[in-house]
Amino acid sequence: MKPKAGDKVKITTSDGEFEGIILPRPELLSQDITVLKLKTGYNIGIENKKIKKMIVLEEYKTPVLKAKKLKPKADLPTVAILSTGGTISSRIDYRTGGVYADYSAEDFVAMCPELEEIANIKAAKVMSVMSEDAMASDWVKMAEEVLKVINEVDGVVITHGTDTMHFTSAALSFLLKDLNKPVVITGAQRSIDRGSSDAFMNLICAVTAAAKWDGAGVVVCMHGTMSDEFCNLTRGTKVRKMHTSRRDAFRAINDEPFAKVFTDGKIEVIKEDYAKRNSGKTSLRELEPRVAMVYIYPDMDPGIIDYHLKEKVHGLVIVATALGHVPTNNPKSLIPALQKAAKKIPVMICSQTLYGRVHPYVYANLRKLSMEVGATYLSDMLPEAAYSKLMVALKQKDAKEFMLTNIAGEISSREVDDCFLI
Ligand code: GLU
Repeated sequence: MKPKAGDKVKITTSDGEFEGIILPRPELLSQDITVLKLKTGYNIGIENKKIKKMIVLEEYKTPVLKAKKLKPKADLPTVAILSTGGTISSRIDYRTGGVYADYSAEDFVAMCPELEEIANIKAAKVMSVMSEDAMASDWVKMAEEVLKVINEVDGVVITHGTDTMHFTSAALSFLLKDLNKPVVITGAQRSIDRGSSDAFMNLICAVTAAAKWDGAGVVVCMHGTMSDEFCNLTRGTKVRKMHTSRRDAFRAINDEPFAKVFTDGKIEVIKEDYAKRNSGKTSLRELEPRVAMVYIYPDMDPGIIDYHLKEKVHGLVIVATALGHVPTNNPKSLIPALQKAAKKIPVMICSQTLYGRVHPYVYANLRKLSMEVGATYLSDMLPEAAYSKLMVALKQKDAKEFMLTNIAGEISSREVDDCFLI
């Protein structure tokens, strides 16, 4: 029998023995290589000419996951898990060798039986996208799905890809008005077929928080350290993915996490600066998706601003340098283009340093941008939060006033310096 992609094999080579699953060879890789996924989750390429023997240990069969019928327990809270895609709901596709989103929320329960002891789980697959593909319309869909279940449960967990999780957590913070319970977003940096996957712990902690954290609002629940100690529960508008691959990539910026959540069910409050669960009525705000975000850099072409105007964007977020600067006193000044833009649409300023606040008056160049152009300075609001907030603001009576009003903790009221790089 000729081994095929997906088969578990033992290969004896001149360099030693390797056990793993055969992956299909990526198109660009030479014909003479066999790619093996090792137990550790890592992939290696083995030159065929070095292979002395290959035995099939287990033939590949398309996995069938049996979703368990869940029996409600009267003494447990109820949590809805809405799955949206990303690594946390991914498995290896042996046809392409890639990771693809597939599992529905019920399958999560089948894979992670601990969840049943924490809460009665309701499950729904809302969408199945890698988060870099998420669109503003997907945020609206997620908010609508939350609203559908929020009154029937004690909390909601959204499983999500990590790349743009912080965009979604901010967007949902603005879209869900007067949220009366926790909406906990979680994901995984390592896929569930890897021994080092963070998916299970993140999921257990997220369901724990949704079931019994006493706060209301959108939060992100992800690993707090590199090892499996606890997860941090962080405000949805003040969190950001700060590393490509570390398990503790999600950090509070200009803020501290609200709490640490442990897998044994303990929740240790760090900062009780949040709205509490309440019996108020949650509703939806709308959004206008035609907003652009422009990252400022030296010697950039002011035509980039004109381009966005031509494309008829309705609002612009400028991710400016440090205190809120853009090129002003050189031949490629952005001031004329921004002046033109600000006559038609709201122009918002936040900082690419992420930490600290922008300031409209400290330097003459800042005064030009704030006073002559009429750009709005957004204090310590993160660019990703400003982006979705502006979409929502455009549907309000006064977009600028809405942007300057603290809606979901996106503007810190006190000094934030003690939260630098924590
Ligand atoms: N890029 C994918 C996403 O964000 C997978 C990465 C992940 O989930 O960590 O959905």
